[in-house]
Amino acid sequence: LVSDLLKIEDLDTFKKRLVDIDSSLVKRAGNIKEGVEGCIGDTPLIRIKSLSEYTGCDILAKAEFLNGAGNSPKDRVALSIIEMAEERGLLIPHSGDTIYEGTVGSTGISLAVICRARGYKAHICMPNDVAIEKSDLLLKLGAEVERVRPAPIVDQNQFVNLARTRAAEHTASSDKPGRGLFADQFETEANWRAHLKGTGPEIYEQTGGSLDAFVSGAGTGGTISGVALFLKSKLPDIKIVLADPPGSGLFNRIKYGVMFDPKEREGTRRRHQVDTIIEGIGINRVTHNFDVGRELIDDAIRVNDDQAISMARWLVEHDGIFVGSSSAVNCVAATKLAKTLGPGHRIVTILCDSGARHLSKFWKSTEPVGGAENDVSLHAILDA
Ligand code: PMP
Repeated sequence: LVSDLLKIEDLDTFKKRLVDIDSSLVKRAGNIKEGVEGCIGDTPLIRIKSLSEYTGCDILAKAEFLNGAGNSPKDRVALSIIEMAEERGLLIPHSGDTIYEGTVGSTGISLAVICRARGYKAHICMPNDVAIEKSDLLLKLGAEVERVRPAPIVDQNQFVNLARTRAAEHTASSDKPGRGLFADQFETEANWRAHLKGTGPEIYEQTGGSLDAFVSGAGTGGTISGVALFLKSKLPDIKIVLADPPGSGLFNRIKYGVMFDPKEREGTRRRHQVDTIIEGIGINRVTHNFDVGRELIDDAIRVNDDQAISMARWLVEHDGIFVGSSSAVNCVAATKLAKTLGPGHRIVTILCDSGARHLSKFWKSTEPVGGAENDVSLHAILDA
């Protein structure tokens, strides 16, 4: 039947292919992933051709949205948090144990998926201005979701504080089975250790140890710290550069050593609230996860919303890469850094999640890609 279906010349190629397949059998045997947890890590490193051509540098992006549980770098973190808790006897599967977390989405989605796979429940607290598709997805995964008014970290109802309280309430309650575990992505060492163990070594191996700079935004700081700790231990001269969105204090922390811009007038500093469409990165406190790698960060680049939106459109238009807001910020910063360093350097950054998680917010205001709006040049994007 096969030879009937194939033309004679195809058949020869097909037979050769069969021999090749047989000879690679031994090598590929066993390449079966153990559940969703087995699909976490070993993500591809993609050359972003349009940005590389424009800058004369090699701009590479770690495609973390291809992690196969919750489709973001947070898969690594969620698995690390759960495994560490299991090792310490803090979680018992199918006992009613529930993981509580405050998140703008990605960590919650990764936790909800792995909780399903391992027999735990997930309860997610998130700000109510986060893209609705993230909470819809969490609900479909069977997580409990509390959307709360955005509030400063000193407020007890701030989403992270609320998750901590809910975990304690669960453990204290006699009505609920099992215990409540607060995942605590901002402060737990399980977060940066996941990147020290996985993301950092993978980047080192995939580049053959040849790279000049690593660029990343920080939400908890786990990615930039964990990757920086690994890469600087192998390549002491590598530049670690923070990509920071509007309103975040981390840029100032790296540039001036304080969380505010010293050029701003004293009275306006603390009340200075900047609205941004960018989700997942930018923060106004130094978390443990940021602090652990802080001294390894050499520089910071500020990226605004217009630059991020235009870059996201550019990446679809020219490279077919469809990403969310934090990935676009990373790509703007990587391109700016390439222009500063000059041609011939190799820069690695992170693609965190897909644009599909951002249709109702970050991607909402834009026309479909392919229209006249795309005549904007990279030069104009970097200058916006
Ligand atoms: N991108 C997205 C979409 C995120 O949700 C996060 C984490 N909140 C980050 C980037 C930042 O990663 P990290 O927490 O490791 O700093």
